[in-house]
Amino acid sequence: METMVHLTVDIGGRPGYDCRGFCSYCYFKHAKDVPSFGCRYCLPFLKGCDYCSRGVKEEYPGFLSLQIVAESFLADLQMVTGDVTRITISGGGDPSCYPEFRDLIELLGALDIPLHIGYTSGKGFDDPEIADFLIANHLTEVSFTVFATNAELRRKWMHDPTPEASLEIIHRLAKKIEVYAAIVVLPDVNDGQVLTETLSWLSGVGVKGVILMRFANRLEQGLILENAPILPDQRIHTVQEFSDLVRENAAAFSHLRISGTPLYDPLFNSPFAICKMPTLLDRLPKIEKKATIITGIIASSYIRTVISACGGDPSLVVVVDKEIACLMTIDDLTSLHLPDLCDTVIIPGRAFVHDAEVEKVLSRDGVFRMIVRGPEMLSADGEMSMGMTEIDVLTIEMEGFSSLIQLINQYGCPT
Ligand code: SF4
Repeated sequence: METMVHLTVDIGGRPGYDCRGFCSYCYFKHAKDVPSFGCRYCLPFLKGCDYCSRGVKEEYPGFLSLQIVAESFLADLQMVTGDVTRITISGGGDPSCYPEFRDLIELLGALDIPLHIGYTSGKGFDDPEIADFLIANHLTEVSFTVFATNAELRRKWMHDPTPEASLEIIHRLAKKIEVYAAIVVLPDVNDGQVLTETLSWLSGVGVKGVILMRFANRLEQGLILENAPILPDQRIHTVQEFSDLVRENAAAFSHLRISGTPLYDPLFNSPFAICKMPTLLDRLPKIEKKATIITGIIASSYIRTVISACGGDPSLVVVVDKEIACLMTIDDLTSLHLPDLCDTVIIPGRAFVHDAEVEKVLSRDGVFRMIVRGPEMLSADGEMSMGMTEIDVLTIEMEGFSSLIQLINQYGCPT
């Protein structure tokens, strides 16, 4: 049987610097050259690997030249045995600002394979004709950062020098191909009436879906690159306010596929959709041992629900001061009250910590605690679930929680 292959073309580039300047709300603004955090990919004896020292910061020296991009793409292509069904262009910098963008598209377009652009702000596009050129070269899907369809707001907050051209490009693309819009929502700037107008414009031109992203401004919201605040004095939505905003807008624009991150995807009631599905919870393994599960603020109540449903003790779920568990760092663990922890401690699969350092920090009272890295994912956030089916999301959750419970039963202490 032939396999379907998706290839990625990495153009390199630095967020903000290779984006015609930083958008005011960019996550990477003010990012410091912080020491490596450690992560799931690090070697057991070495804190810091390519992923956690470079990948997290999306640190590239600049855009890669077309020659390098083309050579590594052709090398990947030669390794492929099945049919390449999709090519995705991505990078740290914005594809629309790539200096040899047209040449790259022509080169890839000649292969006659559906082309996707991961994320572009469109800030580098000045002439709407590029939309027709992209369609002629088999672009079939793009995620476009929109912010607002009010040109002045795009100019001011994204520093897009030609916002009218960018909007016209979205318009032309959405008529012919799948366009998804991404909007970072800043309270009192592009929410409320501005968001309503933006969503009705996007729906009118035929955009397929919109991912709403809550603006983060503080360390506990995930700004781990010593770069908080991004915008001093900017108000932030609470997780609940944001989740309500997503729900209300999804209900008001029922023909647009709208989801939000970190919460929530109204179509699947996710993340953690299984919490409201007793028949699925019943099919998870029963908990037979005891282990502390460390997580972030948002996931904690959901994880407690699942742990209770499977016969475990929900008080063993310990919360650190970080909203998103994947963005936990060693500082979050240093402040935990050690007597509250079991001798087995499960940390989030993606936490930015080095296992050996965690063991040291959590055993510093003289009690040895075994550190176990949990599953990579327990659910899918709105950005992921946007392109999934309900079955896909529920499968991730069932698999994630099954393996979490297996870890508790394998490494936990007797109850
Ligand atoms: S386009 Fe994206 S990466 Fe570039 S500055 Fe704006 S928010 Fe940052």
